[in-house]
Amino acid sequence: MITIWPAFYESFACKAEDCRHSCCKGWEIDIDYASVALYQGLDGKLGNEIRNSISTESGVYSFRLTEDERCPFLRQDGLCRIILEYGDDYICDICAMHPRFFSIIGDFELAGFGLSCEKSCELLLESVEELSFELEETGKRISFGELIDELGLGDSMLSDTFEAELEPDYLKRIINSLADTEPIDDAWTNHIEFLKVNIDKLYKKTADFYSRCDKRQLNRLYQYILYRHMQRIEEYGIDSLLSFARGAVTFIIIEAAVSGNMEESIRRWSEQIEYSVENTEKLLIAE
Ligand code: SF4
Repeated sequence: MITIWPAFYESFACKAEDCRHSCCKGWEIDIDYASVALYQGLDGKLGNEIRNSISTESGVYSFRLTEDERCPFLRQDGLCRIILEYGDDYICDICAMHPRFFSIIGDFELAGFGLSCEKSCELLLESVEELSFELEETGKRISFGELIDELGLGDSMLSDTFEAELEPDYLKRIINSLADTEPIDDAWTNHIEFLKVNIDKLYKKTADFYSRCDKRQLNRLYQYILYRHMQRIEEYGIDSLLSFARGAVTFIIIEAAVSGNMEESIRRWSEQIEYSVENTEKLLIAE
């Protein structure tokens, strides 16, 4: 198995207390069985607190979040009490892995950092260089085009270039398809409604914003979304994946045109779509 990472992976470091959208807030935290067993044997006050914070439903263990949906072990300064007291080896698998993702295509494992994480969005946008990847075992760097060849998809119609379509009908279709996904929270529902109601006023704003965008950055984003979902080609086909990625980047452009904040537009799209298998599949089928 050959593991591939985006070349910026070595620069990844959790922002901890500087993160405005900490992954320790607002997400369910399921606990793997090995960690549950480890927690059963912990001594001391914190050990008791950990055990008392675990709930179970249908055989799935998770941490009971606080009223404001924070992990009970997240300190106000953004640091984790379990890591501080016991060390990195004591956090459960989901916390140790997040925001990394891994997917398998043939003999390749495609790894990366999910875009619901602020730091991942920053790393993706901090360069305008062509997105490149690194083979973990050899350190060899390859471009997106070479990655496609490595994966045996070189003869496919897998386009590596984002081509914008900003026609009103297309923008409307993209917003309507996003409106049809299961909302992550009320704010998402309200915002999509705002976009739907104001879409006629947003065409020009979106086109103006797009004309000022660095197209190399949009291409990095487009390729990264393709990379993350490449394993879905087998089930949904290349055309669906291309339409999914193009729709995603288009929606992010509309969002960024409204908010002026490209990083946050990416992060918000990702947590709504990419972190819900149902929503991702719904859009892939719709395309
Ligand atoms: S979202 Fe990313 S930067 Fe923020 S706390 Fe989680 S891993 Fe760290």
